[in-house]
Amino acid sequence: MRIVDIRERSIAISRYADPTIPSGGLTTSLVAVVTDVMRAGKPVVGYGFSSVGRFAQGGLIRERFAPRLANAADEALSDDAGTNLDPFRAWAVMMASEKPGGHGERCVAVGTLDMAIWDAAAKIAGLPMHRFLADRLGRNVVNPSRVRVYAGGGYLYPQNDIARLSDEMRRFADLGFTHAKIKIGSTGLDQDRRRVDAAAAQLPGYGYLAVDAMNTYDIDAGLAAATTLAPLGLWWFEDVCDPLDFTTQASMAASYDGPIAAGEALFSLAEAKLLDQHGGLRRARDILLFDPVHCYGLPGYLKIVEHLVMKGWPSRAFWPHGGHLFCLHLVAALGLGGAEINPLAFRPFRGLADGMEIADGFADLPQAPGIGFELHSEVWQEFRCVLGDW
Ligand code: MG
Repeated sequence: MRIVDIRERSIAISRYADPTIPSGGLTTSLVAVVTDVMRAGKPVVGYGFSSVGRFAQGGLIRERFAPRLANAADEALSDDAGTNLDPFRAWAVMMASEKPGGHGERCVAVGTLDMAIWDAAAKIAGLPMHRFLADRLGRNVVNPSRVRVYAGGGYLYPQNDIARLSDEMRRFADLGFTHAKIKIGSTGLDQDRRRVDAAAAQLPGYGYLAVDAMNTYDIDAGLAAATTLAPLGLWWFEDVCDPLDFTTQASMAASYDGPIAAGEALFSLAEAKLLDQHGGLRRARDILLFDPVHCYGLPGYLKIVEHLVMKGWPSRAFWPHGGHLFCLHLVAALGLGGAEINPLAFRPFRGLADGMEIADGFADLPQAPGIGFELHSEVWQEFRCVLGDW
């Protein structure tokens, strides 16, 4: 088992369906990992990307982590039978010589390549990603065809905010979503309250709407928002304060009875432990958003899930951030609460694969071998460009 080539490319992505609206210059990395395994006369290729929200990681991928994979001995990447990649062994190859701590964004670079390796390994096994992962972990997939999802979006529009937000939410409902999440915290509380009312009006009620403050509040602003939001009975209140400000996080949890969601911007098991120990979160009620790509990929994410479940968190508390096909498979294989979908934003990684549908808040699960990016025409077009002349 050898990796014969790794290709990488950065692309721009936008938080808006209309990419002309400024979105902070956001980018993401795409990788194609070419193996020496042949199927139908072509090499098996795994595809991965850096999820959304943390910019592209081309430098770290090209200079540090891809060369470790490309230069690894055959047996360092292979399973015991020597017939497939072992994603956990490949992960250990990538992390060789890395010191504890100093997570920065190297975890995102590792997670990008890790996604591609899982995609390749599942394809070599001839299984959809959720089946391959469940088999590997000795788990049963309870419902192998659908997973619970919600629609992420609702960023502040620079013009006609309420009208455009209402239209966006209406489109979510028309697509079959029952639950959705919008952003707050980047405008005044009065305007945010109007946004919440407008969004909830397109859903069955406030209890179907989550709000995401994008880690913007200090303690005073957070408590003021909590006072305004608490009577509404929202689905959850996300990313209240700085991700490492556990003092404010704990104060918020002590004063806001509704579900709180956190963890999206924490990328390591060490940080997850700190959140659990000092963030005041309530295991029976609150939501954990760790992004499987940003947390050093699936091996890193599994460490977090296994540790927190061992500490008493239910699997259903995990709703991974990201909004893409990889997370759908993880939710199914690990029995997590559900997955985010970005129906309109973050093109090409918006929505589901072609022909997959959402109904009553559940999404179809891709059944092709691997993650299924080939079935998503917008995504596949970009990955074909990454692969180039292979
Ligand atoms: Mg968030």
